[in-house]
Amino acid sequence: MSGAPSSVPTNGDVPPDRADVAVIGAGAAGLMAAISAGRAQPGRSARVVALDGAKTLGAKILVAGGGRCNVTHHAVDERDYAGSTAPAIRKVLAAFPVARTVEFFAEFGVELKREETGKLFPTTDSARTVLDALLRAAREAGVSLRHPWRVASVAREGDAFRVVSAEGETILARRVILATGGKSLPKSGSDGAGYGFATAFGHTLTSRVIPALVPLLLPDGHPLRELSGIAVDAEVRLVSSTGKVLTKTTNAVLCTHFGLSGPAILDISRHWSLARFDDPGAKLELSFLPPTTPDALDAQMMATSVAAPRETLASFTRTRLPERLMRTLAALANVDPATTFRQLSRDARKRLVRTLGAYVVEPTGDRGFPHAEVTAGGVPLAEVRLESMESRRMPGLFLCGEILDVDGRIGGFNFQWAWASGWVAGRSAGA
Ligand SMILES: Cc1cc2nc3c(=O)[nH]c(=O)nc-3n(C[C@H](O)[C@H](O)[C@H](O)COP(=O)(O)OP(=O)(O)OC[C@H]3O[C@@H](n4cnc5c(N)ncnc54)[C@H](O)[C@@H]3O)c2cc1C
Repeated sequence: MSGAPSSVPTNGDVPPDRADVAVIGAGAAGLMAAISAGRAQPGRSARVVALDGAKTLGAKILVAGGGRCNVTHHAVDERDYAGSTAPAIRKVLAAFPVARTVEFFAEFGVELKREETGKLFPTTDSARTVLDALLRAAREAGVSLRHPWRVASVAREGDAFRVVSAEGETILARRVILATGGKSLPKSGSDGAGYGFATAFGHTLTSRVIPALVPLLLPDGHPLRELSGIAVDAEVRLVSSTGKVLTKTTNAVLCTHFGLSGPAILDISRHWSLARFDDPGAKLELSFLPPTTPDALDAQMMATSVAAPRETLASFTRTRLPERLMRTLAALANVDPATTFRQLSRDARKRLVRTLGAYVVEPTGDRGFPHAEVTAGGVPLAEVRLESMESRRMPGLFLCGEILDVDGRIGGFNFQWAWASGWVAGRSAGA
């Protein structure tokens, strides 16, 4: 087959048996990679085929941000990510900054609005408009989209790659882009198969490949599980066995019937999971009255007992803690919430300070990949050339998106990584 198809073939069309570029995985990173590969040589019409095992494309884009798709964040830099080294992440992000994302979507009629948190969403509040824009961009870039087309194997054959589907169809491609994602939300089709393709080409994986941005489980009968549905702003700290604060974050914590969720918990989950391996004595502490530290809280309570001796725990926390949570914490500290500060013994005050300001939770685990938004770990960035995302192990192979060892915090950072790394990989593979 020669030349690019004039429009995106729908399912059932005969696939090209030869392609310049085959993109494996048409999620966020793969679609962007296919678009940039298609655009890489305008007029020459590189034959770009994007293959995806899913029946319905873009499952993760559609569920993202509660169906509104948090496309990116107004300020993105390497400190918003973990995994590979900061300079490596910075280099890739710099090649396709947030302004380019905004411009790209605007080109297809998707205006983005910035919310108070700095997150950018489509003004339509609908993830569908984001997916439609990507599909239109792919069509206009001459990309041939094939799905469901589950890749079963990919192997080097002479100066090309033989890509074979689960049904036995074959595509010979000069270049291959691996954009198969990680293992989060496996029912969407991202089940980690791409790791097998990468390692078969000589790549390694980080020693841990774990769920990230994932809720944490608390043991049966834990008092916070009884408060299912209650959300509170809290500081969550991961403290090493030697007492050092390894990382901390302040945001909403949501009590659920299984344990804890909410952005603060999701953001710290990958750090907690890794600490379980590396420093089993590390602990997770919640401070329910941020930004107050335990010492400052103690001082504040002492001052209140002088200035307002009739203040009670209930009145002291009224505007800051949901009442049910306050009652649970008071019970845990063995303090009657109606006790006035004047009556409060030193011991009782210390117990309250510990419970309100440094409450230790001991999760039994996380909810696993089916409930994780992203994967921590994967192919180290050190194994790709950052200016092109080409593999250092196999010329002609490119990698982008979540398959790589880069994971962002909540806020649109993971999509920005997908857009940036996908753009670079596609531009280079299509050139
Ligand atoms: C519930 C949820 C909400 C999220 N919300 C946000 C958000 O609002 N903002 C944000 O920035 N990030 C969000 N994320 C994270 C974001 O979706 C991912 O970081 C991003 O989708 C990763 O893009 P990717 O293309 O690398 O991988 P994926 O999106 O996982 O795409 C990989 C694709 O490869 C395909 N594939 C895998 N193996 C094969 C194979 N063997 N053959 C063919 N195809 C294959 C899969 O079907 C899939 O379509 C969310 C994630 C989840 C799960």
